[in-house]
Amino acid sequence: MGERTRAAGVPISGSICYNGSMERSRGAVDILHSRHWIFDLDGTLTVAIHDFARIRSLLGVPEGGDILGHLDALPEAEATVARGVLIGIEEELAGRTQPALGALELVQLLHVRGARLGVLTRNTRDNALRTLGRIGLSPYIAACDVLGRDDALAKPDPDGIFKLASNWGMPPAALVMVGDYAFDLLTGRAAGAGTIHVDPARAFRWPELTDIAVGSLTELAQALA
Ligand SMILES: [Mg+2]
Repeated sequence: MGERTRAAGVPISGSICYNGSMERSRGAVDILHSRHWIFDLDGTLTVAIHDFARIRSLLGVPEGGDILGHLDALPEAEATVARGVLIGIEEELAGRTQPALGALELVQLLHVRGARLGVLTRNTRDNALRTLGRIGLSPYIAACDVLGRDDALAKPDPDGIFKLASNWGMPPAALVMVGDYAFDLLTGRAAGAGTIHVDPARAFRWPELTDIAVGSLTELAQALA
């Protein structure tokens, strides 16, 4: 787990939070200096438009249930139909997605610093590539560093982080996982990577899983600059 502080973060309204302290702990500074960053896609690099409650309802997934896990547990014929419905919903959403506040600014800043950037999503890789093109991030993230749900075990399994770490020749602890949901933070924790929670609502619901909490990618870019 390296030397990073694992203390629960306490969100500080209006400012970036470093491991629960106004001061930049060594762990947080290490994370910000990382040259290997993995981003969740939907709701992190893009504005959140997925209505997961509606998607669950359409697919018959219990309230709050894991959509992909539910489909995996269905009989094969039923699962195939449900996966088709899900892909249709995701493709429609990918066609009208928008970049999250500060996404281009942050990604360009990291790119200029020579950082290697990847995407780990529970969406399909095709949709992820299409979305990255739509929001203008394709020039900064190599297609081979974009992993969808068929390329690695789905988050919160750390498989995707391990795969990218291996591809990049880095220990997972040297990587940073940025995301808007518990699955992203759990995945980062399970891999021993640094975790950054982006939450525009500033509720910061998972402090025990979060190394750095920010309200937007703009805030994160400002912390890096
Ligand atoms: Mg997300």
